[in-house]
Amino acid sequence: MSEDVIKGISTGEGIAIGKVFIYDKGKRKVYPTGISPKKVSANKKIFQDVCKKLSSELDELLEHLDKGSADIIESQKQIIIDPEIERKVFSVIEGELMSVEYAIYSTYCSFIERLEESGSELFKQRIIDLVDIRDRLIDLIKNDYSPKQNLKGRILIAKEVSPTELITLHEQGIEGLVVEKGGITSHASLIAQALAIPCIVNAKHALDVKAEGKAILDGREGFLMPNPSKNQIREYSQKLNKLRHKQKEAQQNLEKLSKTQSGTGFELLANIEFEEEIEYANRNKAAGVGLLRTESLLFNNYSTEEEQQQFYQNVLKGIEGEITVRLFDIGGDKLNARIPDEDNPFLGWRGIRMLLDEEKLLKSQIRALYKTEALYPGRIRILLPMISVVQEIEAVKLFIESVKNDLRNEGINIDRSIPLGIMIEVPSTALIADKLAKLVDFFSIGTNDLTQYTLAVDRGNERICSLYQQHHPAIWKLIKTTADAAHQHGIDISVCGELAGHVLGACGLIGMGIKKLSMASSNILPVKEELVSHTDDEFSKLAESFLCSTSSDEVLKAFEGWRSKRS
Ligand code: PEP
Ligand code: MG
Repeated sequence: MSEDVIKGISTGEGIAIGKVFIYDKGKRKVYPTGISPKKVSANKKIFQDVCKKLSSELDELLEHLDKGSADIIESQKQIIIDPEIERKVFSVIEGELMSVEYAIYSTYCSFIERLEESGSELFKQRIIDLVDIRDRLIDLIKNDYSPKQNLKGRILIAKEVSPTELITLHEQGIEGLVVEKGGITSHASLIAQALAIPCIVNAKHALDVKAEGKAILDGREGFLMPNPSKNQIREYSQKLNKLRHKQKEAQQNLEKLSKTQSGTGFELLANIEFEEEIEYANRNKAAGVGLLRTESLLFNNYSTEEEQQQFYQNVLKGIEGEITVRLFDIGGDKLNARIPDEDNPFLGWRGIRMLLDEEKLLKSQIRALYKTEALYPGRIRILLPMISVVQEIEAVKLFIESVKNDLRNEGINIDRSIPLGIMIEVPSTALIADKLAKLVDFFSIGTNDLTQYTLAVDRGNERICSLYQQHHPAIWKLIKTTADAAHQHGIDISVCGELAGHVLGACGLIGMGIKKLSMASSNILPVKEELVSHTDDEFSKLAESFLCSTSSDEVLKAFEGWRSKRS
């Protein structure tokens, strides 16, 4: 393999061969582009429009924020309406006959430079705000006023991408993704898996790549080869064809019943965050949505009750089966811009802790869910994120009762309770699962956070990502304790963390009697192929060997040995 190969962490299946597209927002530059005098007023109008749009987006955010975060947003709003900035932007458009993007870029950059030169610590936050607003205004113009780029067949290289950006880029045709930052549970990686985009993350120095023609991305082996030889392109094109053929064959397996060789049924569901993912879930024959992440409702800024209802209805209309809706899980790695600075955000004000303080936000979500349930009876379940102590469950239950009373008083038909479950993602809840099982209708094990909190490894920290081991024996022990408690008390149990979407994980989980697994849609196929090939006895022996292991390596070896005996 040539020296300039970029290595990264593999996030799943897939190979892509195509030209590279560098998506470097950090070095975003807007080049001077002249305009004719006739276009001056149109460009000025665009500036006013995007300022208004950004301002109203910030206003919506403000409705749900605490004082600390609201202050930051307020100060950003002041920048947007700053008359000095507007004067300067207009003078670049009018006086220098430059495009609105360039006028914004150069104006903001000159303010930023002035503050940087002052060297004052005091201006640090101000500089961050100016950069942020500059980029968001330019993005708004690009999204609303520029033709969409055709990125068909391109392999995108980025420092990081947000989920919404990734969805847009996917719609524009990208076929591969290389991200410098993040680990396998980063948002980019989860969405890439759901959309079946070959992807590697944690690919150091990928942005420095110099690729002349086509490059090869191997998502399984975890590398990007920037300047392959003709032979290598031929070799990988053959591999790609084989892979596609195999996928087609496996597609037929999807039609098979979901039963192990012993005839025990299992259910494979999809983890979803965006409506765009529903199509993939259906294509992979997901039995429903085992985890509907709802944070996207907030970063798209549609958080009113009606808008939420619309989102839930679209998902329910789009896919059959049960939909497990997780309440807003804000904080930690998700939407943390909404949260005031904390020393340890993953151990801080996140998930249910925040929701119980932000009653308005919680109320809007519960109301929207109950109103939707009235139209789709029996299809919704509510899942609480980041539960760590029993009082949180009790408080939410009381809260839900009061919301239901309000709805009844408004004449809305609430004759049922929506099943209520908790994420088991903090070790304390796994350890007292037998007690918690008496209080809720179901458990959903979140192995992404459970791993982070059990092994004390920040799930997003690249330096220690080799310690982030979802299949560590300690995790298996917590899963076993939780599964036993659920079975003993007769409540439903599923797993929605990444472990469920890995073949090793899925086999071990079935071996512990967990028959409902929720995963990125693109993982359904390989997981199903494996699960239909073994007997229950084989799965439980495998699970036992995981529980007896001392390290993740031993778990891996046990799995490889188990699998090779079978094939
Ligand atoms: C988890 O923690 O395992 C999980 C499914 O939730 P998220 O990755 O959204 O935190
Ligand atoms: Mg989680």
